[in-house]
Parts: sequence; C-alpha cells; structure tokens
Amino acid sequence: MSPLNRRSFLAGSAALVAAPAVRVKAATADVDVAIIGAGAAGIAAARRVAAAKRSYRLIEAGPRVGGRCAVDTKIFGVPFDLGAHWIHNPDSNPLVAAAPKTGLDIYGAPRAQSLRVGPRRGRDSELEAFLAAQVRTQRALADSAKGKADVPAQRLLPKDLLDWQATIEFMFGPYAFGKDLNAVSAYDVARAVPRDGDAFCRQGYGGLLTRLASDLSVQLSNPASMISWSHGSGVTIETPRGDLYARAAILTGSTNVLGSDKIEFIPPLPKRQLDAAAKLSLGSVNRVAFDLPGNPFGLQQDDSVFEQAAGTRTAALLANIGGTGLHMVDVGGNFGRELAAKGDAALTDFVGEWLSGLFGSSARNALKRSHVVRWDADPFVQGAMSAAAVGASDARKILMEPLGGRLWFAGEAVHETQWATVNGAWESGNRAAEAALRKLGALKEDAGDKPARRKTRRRGDD
Ligand SMILES: Cc1cc2nc3c(=O)[nH]c(=O)nc-3n(C[C@H](O)[C@H](O)[C@H](O)COP(=O)(O)OP(=O)(O)OC[C@H]3O[C@@H](n4cnc5c(N)ncnc54)[C@H](O)[C@@H]3O)c2cc1C
Repeated sequence: MSPLNRRSFLAGSAALVAAPAVRVKAATADVDVAIIGAGAAGIAAARRVAAAKRSYRLIEAGPRVGGRCAVDTKIFGVPFDLGAHWIHNPDSNPLVAAAPKTGLDIYGAPRAQSLRVGPRRGRDSELEAFLAAQVRTQRALADSAKGKADVPAQRLLPKDLLDWQATIEFMFGPYAFGKDLNAVSAYDVARAVPRDGDAFCRQGYGGLLTRLASDLSVQLSNPASMISWSHGSGVTIETPRGDLYARAAILTGSTNVLGSDKIEFIPPLPKRQLDAAAKLSLGSVNRVAFDLPGNPFGLQQDDSVFEQAAGTRTAALLANIGGTGLHMVDVGGNFGRELAAKGDAALTDFVGEWLSGLFGSSARNALKRSHVVRWDADPFVQGAMSAAAVGASDARKILMEPLGGRLWFAGEAVHETQWATVNGAWESGNRAAEAALRKLGALKEDAGDKPARRKTRRRGDD
C-alpha cells in the first residue's frame, strides 16, 4: 500500500486552490450520519444511530452485507463463511449478546485440535508437546514485550520449539494475523485480548451478522468514490446513486482501502492518518473450501487440523463444519500472498498437494467441488486483517481521531485490543457511532442509553 495516495493528494490540493471545484450541498443534510461500509463495524454503527433515533444512510460497495464476515448458502447448499467463522470470546462478544433475538444456533467450538505428522495422525505425546509449545508461545508473546522497545514478534518466540517451530510460527503469524511474525509488532500482539473459548454459529458467523443487519436499510453496490470532509459543516459523499450530504460520517473501509485510490478524499487524508493506515496494512488469508461428504479423512465435527510443518508451505484445515461435509483450508502470510497472486488454480493446486501429504494421494480428489475466496483480490477489502508493523503500536489510536470533528474511522483496525476480529470491528463501529451522536448532541456523556460494556480480560491481567 502506498503511504500517500497521489491521486487524492493532487485532487485535494487542486480543490484547496480552486475551492468551487468541490461539490458541496450547503443546504440541509440528507441524514445525520452516513456510514460507509456494511461490515461488522458499519452494521454496529448503523444500529447504534438507529437506536438513538437519528437518521442514517448505510452504503456498501459490494453486493451483500457482512464485508469480511459474510456467509454464502448457495455454493455448497450449506452456510459457508467466506471470511470470519470463529466467534471469539463468546462471553463478552457483543454479537453473541445480541444473538438470542435472532433465533440462530450458537454452540461451543471443540477445545481439541488434531495434528498430522506427515501422513499419520499425531501421537498423544506429540499433541501434548504441540499444545505445550502453544501455551509457552502465548506466554512469551504476552510477557516479553512489557517495558521493552518494540521488536518483531518473531524474536519473542521460545528458543526451544524444535520440531514445532514452523507450525507455531504459522499458527501465531499467517493463520492468526495473515502476516509472518517477523513483520508484526510484538507490542500489538501482546496488547491483544486472548481469543479463547470460541464458539460457532450453525448458520455461519456471516449468517449471524446478516441477521443483525436485517432491520437496517442498506444501499448495496453503492461505493463511495469521494468524501469531502472539511467544506461546509458536514460531509459530502459521492456515490453512483448521487451525492449524499450528512452531518457526520463513519468510514469503515479496511486500512488497505484507505491507502488505495478507491476513495478520493477532499482535502486529502492527513499524512498522520495515511501513515497509520499504512503501518496497519492487512495481512493475507485466503481460503479454499470444499464439500467432502462421508468423512473419508476420519475427522471430528469442526475438527481443527494442523501439521508438524517443515517451513512456511503449510496451512490449516477446519473439517466437517457444523456436522456437514464442508471443509475449509486457510493459507496465509507471505507464502499465501504470493500463491494467491498467481490465481485461484495456484491456491487449489497447493491445497491438493498439502492434503495429499496429510491424508494420502487420493485426498486431492476432495477438491472436485471446491471454491476459492481470495480476499487479497477483493477490491473493497484488499486483504485479511490488520497487524501493526514493528514500532507502530500507536497507529490504532491515531485512526481513532476524528477528522474535522465530523469524519470517524471505524473497523477492526481501529480497536486497540480486539483488532483482527469481528467483535473488535463491531465495538469500534459502536464507539464511533456514539462519538458522532455525542457531537450531534444526540447523546450526553452520561447518557443511560449506552449499551452496557462487559469487562474483557487482557493478556497479563492475572
Ligand atoms: C479469511 C478471514 C478469516 C477471518 N477469521 C476470523 C474469525 O474467525 N473470527 C473473527 O473474529 N475475525 C476473523 N477475521 C477478521 C474479521 O473478518 C474482520 O476483522 C472483520 O470482519 C472486519 O470488519 P470491518 O467492519 O472492520 O471491515 P469489513 O468487513 O471489511 O467491512 C468494511 C466494508 O466496507 C465496504 N467498503 C469498502 N470501501 C467502500 C466504499 N468506498 N464504499 C462503500 N463501501 C465500502 C467493504 O465492501 C466492506 O463490506 C477473518 C478475516 C478473514 C479475511
């Protein structure tokens, strides 16, 4: 991602010099709050504004709601999460708190993982050693960053991981954050709330999010192409369906979208915000899903499978999802990004080869009915999730600062402890909506209509 978007810069500079070039509706606002992007953050923001009985317009570039947490039910005939699937920290997760009214089925994820060592099942002793390596790594990442200069998270790994080194590096890097650990800030990782006690939604996490948006009015396939945020008293947003003028706006596009030329900002985004977005660039996690009925791999329902890897050419399998024949393989980090850049076939070929190594040569046949989701290639997302570069642990705070007192950023990247999650994106959207409502005088500081915040544990609290 380029730190400074030349097109925005030039357009913005021209606009400042020749002010009348900017189309600004000086009259009354169309809505109180415009919300750009109908992923978790945008949906939470719209619900919050609607709950405060203020008007909003929620616009989405893509053809469906959910963003990186979207479900498809047509491809395999069962709910298939295209992105987020694990419902982290269900006890404090605001989507779970809102779920009972949807009637959808949320159930606990199995605690156990499966391990393959070459073509065989890992022995109990190997699995124990692998789990112990995970616990030691988690502790090392949480503790070692305290009070020291920020370093690549890779440097904090225990030195004696031996046979588990590559698998642990994959799990804590490409699989969790889409980036290799040598490119990730140890501070950022240490600050993240541990993601445990996971749950699944039988109708898909995306199904849950879609249901939570069902009372909202969303304009789909309507991308914002220009945002003017410092003329007049509000924000003007250009879309294919005409200009929208709002008293305040919340922008939830990913950090890679912010740094691209998808949206022209007038005036351009300040360097401070652009730098912050660039330092929070998205990692890469792409997915190959397939339908494999009859459980020929002999795995459990919702079985999470890793291998004792020899290097970065590895992946993770989630099998028999929700008791169906749906399986998903996630490939990430630098290796996954380079593979995905070559196209769907390269990803499918690798996954076929990987499965054959784990379950025998016929495993490749599993991919006869497969589907690839390349998040890197989605023009309105451009990657998986944000992970801070080394030395950039303040970038999330910078993105929380509103521009001109009227344009707020929201989304997973704008959450200091729950970044890279759906619940973090949701909380960030909620928070931005409350800040905008306060600014509009629709919410007082001590307003009793704030949704209750549950206490979440941070790493190192105990
Ligand atoms: C493969 C994968 C697996 C993941 N697994 C998990 C998991 O198991 N659990 C978990 O909690 N999290 C997971 N995540 C992360 C999680 O999906 C994200 O953190 C979260 O969904 C981000 O929500 P958001 O609202 O911040 O952004 P998004 O979901 O990206 O929403 C932003 C929306 O803005 C739209 N947009 C962009 N530009 C414009 C524009 N110009 N005009 C209008 N609309 C625009 C986009 O189309 C998008 O819909 C995963 C992510 C990926 C990619």
